[in-house]
Amino acid sequence: MKAQAMTPVEQVHQALRGIECHDDPGLLRSKSKDFHWYSPVLSALLQDKTADLLVIPKDVEELRRVASACARFRVNVTLRGGGTGNYGQCVPMARGVIIETLKLNAVTVHSGCATVQTGCIIEKLELAARAQGQEILMFPSTLTDATMGGFIAGGFGGVGSIRHGVLKDPGNVTRIQVMTLEATPRLVELHGADIQKVHHAFGTNGIITEMDVKLVPAEDWRHVIALFDSYEATLRFGEAAMTPGLPLRLLTSVERGFAPYYTALGDYFSEDKDAVFALCAAASLGDFERLVAQHGGRVVLAMTDAEIAAAHLLPAYECAYNHTTLMALKKDRAWTYMQLAFPQPFQVAQAMALVAEFGHEILWHHEFSLAYGSYSVFAIPLVSFFDAERLTEIKDRIEALGVGVFDAHVITIEDGGMKTIDSAQIDFKRIADPHGLMNPGKTRGWTPDMVQP
Ligand SMILES: Cc1cc2nc3c(=O)[nH]c(=O)nc-3n(C[C@H](O)[C@H](O)[C@H](O)COP(=O)(O)OP(=O)(O)OC[C@H]3O[C@@H](n4cnc5c(N)ncnc54)[C@H](O)[C@@H]3O)c2cc1C
Repeated sequence: MKAQAMTPVEQVHQALRGIECHDDPGLLRSKSKDFHWYSPVLSALLQDKTADLLVIPKDVEELRRVASACARFRVNVTLRGGGTGNYGQCVPMARGVIIETLKLNAVTVHSGCATVQTGCIIEKLELAARAQGQEILMFPSTLTDATMGGFIAGGFGGVGSIRHGVLKDPGNVTRIQVMTLEATPRLVELHGADIQKVHHAFGTNGIITEMDVKLVPAEDWRHVIALFDSYEATLRFGEAAMTPGLPLRLLTSVERGFAPYYTALGDYFSEDKDAVFALCAAASLGDFERLVAQHGGRVVLAMTDAEIAAAHLLPAYECAYNHTTLMALKKDRAWTYMQLAFPQPFQVAQAMALVAEFGHEILWHHEFSLAYGSYSVFAIPLVSFFDAERLTEIKDRIEALGVGVFDAHVITIEDGGMKTIDSAQIDFKRIADPHGLMNPGKTRGWTPDMVQP
């Protein structure tokens, strides 16, 4: 009887003898998911997507063997760090191999910067920096689960952005090393503005192996909650507080409707007040409190990390950014979310007009930040999900009012935040992924005619 030919994935598997591989269907299903389930639209679209093989290289040499085997046998590859991305970024659309990076996690702290491997959990980097009196510039609220490589490949900014801008801002990430997906993989070094070739490319154009990120002297931060009588007052306070005078790492205003989802905060946040969550330098707490009082509010909590942990309270950053959505969805799956960028300069009246127009259909929080050199206000509001059509109507209406929408219910880079095809990223894909195997389906810029045989 004629022996059956091995599939390309089986050939890869065979070529990776000695490297940690898993083909258990249950494990593959869970490693093929990320946090796209925030979106009912994406949940329906991606529910059946799964990979054929999970590979966990323990060092760069093993990674090189995996990249080579996948290139030689033309098997699709999806990189996975912590799997906390929101748009199905690391969901394999066309099966193949998942490469999990968590074992590539070395960190070296220098003065003013750190060299870090892709799979390093961001919190590990922050702790290593703090041990030497420094801190990282920014992190997503998924600090304890997300990797640096995933943040660069899939993220935007977050806690710290109010001080240092977003990942894209010059000087925040100074070097990225990328492994190509070829039969003989190469390491390519990107410096300065060239790092944009792989930043926010969803792992479609090369395997990030290592990067250099800037560090700054560590501050003594306090988690702060201030309460106000109206949501408008929180926004007016935010507008006043986001000036360079106050050393802040986080500044978020949150509507009182979130209180039932933040039960761990008990009396610190209840449904009769709107709140501001902040990280403020200890030495400036007095200034912060005075500004709060000028806007009719009151600081009800100011604690160190250790005090927050001892009191079993939530860190301020878990009450902000996309953690708000997570907290709400844990209690009520009827919500989904949107991602908005307000035009500059921020107009409180415009934000309040949206609050009034959508009533109970949208629950608001606003993130005060710095991006591309200017103070900017973003919002990641909860939206009561009725159906995809109503979601589109809301998006269209908000856009018509002049507020930018980064669609969180689509899977390509371009349909989401970026809007246009980044030709520099596509040109780099020709070099780093000539066979078009990396995270297929996630960029509109790559077409079948570009594939090198
Ligand atoms: C509750 C919550 C809060 C969040 N808050 C924020 C926030 O404040 N700011 C923000 O920017 N994001 C935020 N996110 C999104 C996400 O957590 C971050 O972007 C995070 O940094 C992603 O890291 P990860 O390791 O989980 O990446 P993953 O989800 O594993 O991967 C993300 C993308 O990067 C690619 N990738 C991973 N490793 C590599 C590599 N080595 N080479 C090439 N590509 C690679 C993947 O293929 C995927 O496309 C949030 C998500 C959740 C669920």
